[in-house]
Amino acid sequence: MIIQLPTLTSRYTHQIIIGGDFNEDIINGASSQRKKCINDFMQDHELSSKETGLTFIHSNGKDATAIDFILYQNKYSENIIDIKKLNVTSNVSDHYPILLSVLHHQKKLNTSEKSQISTKTFNKRIKWDKIDTGKYASLISTEISSTRCKIQNREDIVSGFSTLNNIIIKATKVFAPKSNKGKKKPKLQVMNEEIRKAISNKKVAFYNWKNNGSINDQHNYYLKQKKLTTYELRKQCRLEIALRRINERQKLIESKVSDTKTFFRMIRNQRGKMSKHIDELNVDGQIYNSDNQIINGWHIHFEELAKKSVNTKFDHKHLENVEKEVKVISDICQERYIHMQVTNKEKLKKDFGIWILSLHGTNGLDPETILTLVKTYVLPILTYGLEILIPKGKSLTTLNLYHKKLLKQLLSLSTNTADPAIYILSGMIPIEAELHIKILTLFGTISRSEKTSNEWRIAERQLKLKSFNSNSWFIDIKKICLLYNIENIEKYLDNPLTKSKWKSFIDNKVQSYWTNKILDDSKMYSTLQYMNCQYTIGKIHPLITTKTANNRDIVRIPSRTKIATGTYIFQSNRASFNKNKVNPTCKLCNKSPETLSHFLLTCESLEMVRKRLVDIIIDMGSELLAKSYFAEEVDLVQLIVNPFYYTVNKCNNEIVQNIAGQLERVCRQLINNLHMKRYDLLTKQQKCEKKNNLS
Ligand SMILES: [Zn+2]
Repeated sequence: MIIQLPTLTSRYTHQIIIGGDFNEDIINGASSQRKKCINDFMQDHELSSKETGLTFIHSNGKDATAIDFILYQNKYSENIIDIKKLNVTSNVSDHYPILLSVLHHQKKLNTSEKSQISTKTFNKRIKWDKIDTGKYASLISTEISSTRCKIQNREDIVSGFSTLNNIIIKATKVFAPKSNKGKKKPKLQVMNEEIRKAISNKKVAFYNWKNNGSINDQHNYYLKQKKLTTYELRKQCRLEIALRRINERQKLIESKVSDTKTFFRMIRNQRGKMSKHIDELNVDGQIYNSDNQIINGWHIHFEELAKKSVNTKFDHKHLENVEKEVKVISDICQERYIHMQVTNKEKLKKDFGIWILSLHGTNGLDPETILTLVKTYVLPILTYGLEILIPKGKSLTTLNLYHKKLLKQLLSLSTNTADPAIYILSGMIPIEAELHIKILTLFGTISRSEKTSNEWRIAERQLKLKSFNSNSWFIDIKKICLLYNIENIEKYLDNPLTKSKWKSFIDNKVQSYWTNKILDDSKMYSTLQYMNCQYTIGKIHPLITTKTANNRDIVRIPSRTKIATGTYIFQSNRASFNKNKVNPTCKLCNKSPETLSHFLLTCESLEMVRKRLVDIIIDMGSELLAKSYFAEEVDLVQLIVNPFYYTVNKCNNEIVQNIAGQLERVCRQLINNLHMKRYDLLTKQQKCEKKNNLS
């Protein structure tokens, strides 16, 4: 090969670049026959090269030798921008690829010349049956008669032909319909059998409409058909998109703590179409490209986010909130946490917490999905290690406050929402109960260990000897047991229950205690009068679930929960807060105090929005409730605010399902529409008042 090189270079006049495996370190290697030969060749032809480091990976996996080089001519050295070794993670060769960047001038194509050509030719198929051929012919004949071309010699024939040709092209351009080229229709994002059918129906309807004169009268049968099929197609597309959303949501709900796959899938989804081209994460110029590195980069990115942001598009208020929360988490951790080396997994989990916060409100995730993500990814971090150092006093309060605030934010509840409502709606237990379960679980593990083991013996001694004032972990356990009516904890140390029995035992004790406590508490709040006694731990309240994962339904939930938890502020509330210095009269109609029932049922200004939906609610409600036995009277306000009130103590799951599937949606719609209308009217009023004040 080296012998052939001189002949190659002498034959061409172009710039020459030679690259490849030289089987020799031609720059720093020890002298050898081959090296001498190559160096001579380079000298003869005025070639240079550049070091790029070790390029050949030995079969033992270590970078071993530098044997790959790129040679270039000295006279073109200004054109060589860079030669470098690439670190491509997907590289399977035993050589590293080497990248040469060369300066290259590409002549710009002369576009004006091109457009001149296109005026001379006409490369389009003409649909002659659609053209007014009479007008076309008359235009050509007038043009021809105006040219007065006389044919006398050979040149005249050529020029005459070209003139004739131009006339024909000109006439064709006038009458042929304009090309639609370049106007691309947006591509459908989804496709299935139904959509395909809907498309073909739409096409048929369009053809029929066109063939019957393209009449744009809205009573025309064909136009109606055309509209109907278009509507059907859109509907099918929406259905398919919704179905995909539901599946996606299901996957999120089923995701596990250790599930890094879901994490990377979400990242890919976020990248969308570009994910084919993006396989690395760029954080402030630093590139991360393997999976583990990306987690690192992700971490650094979020650390940076919590510190500062120069991005003007960023939601700073939200960022501030996130920052505060991160601080609370880290404060809690620092106070109450045995510091261990945080592994990548831990970091990943922590980031998930912050990330879920950033999802809130923007991504259209419904409360159920968000809560599941919190349970899987945030709670384990929040309570990590706290079963050993049991938080008490101030740090427990901080933790509790943070937990409640997080839930309120995620459920779009206002900050003054009564605490029991958070747990009733989310089906979650207070963080304290969460910790108690962890602590008792740890005790269960100790009780099942060998009676000769250190921890078992410590447990026995401390439970017997320490006084109730002691700070011992085991005395704390005793106090916790007292709370949950677990008597004689020593008994379980001597005769431990099996893992699953112990778990169901403590779950049962803890859950029944908190169910009663929260329900009792809820009765003390007048704002929760319509929420009424439905608290199932682990089950999200049907008031905030959605069956469709439909955005339109999801955005209606916040105003709905504000009404249900009594935190929607009416004029009458404002009056009582301000000791009646504010007028409680409804600002919309000025007729009576604005209360919940006035807003929902009687305010005249909202009647337009209300009428149809209230009728549906009355019809649907009476039909649904009639199916189960009812002794009590049905209150319309209660039915709208929380229809599930009437399903308490009815061991009939079907009615809950029916209400959730049908009635609840209408109630949500009604409340949201009333809220929007009220807001709209009040804003208009305020604007008028401002104007009047100014003038
Ligand atoms: Zn009113």
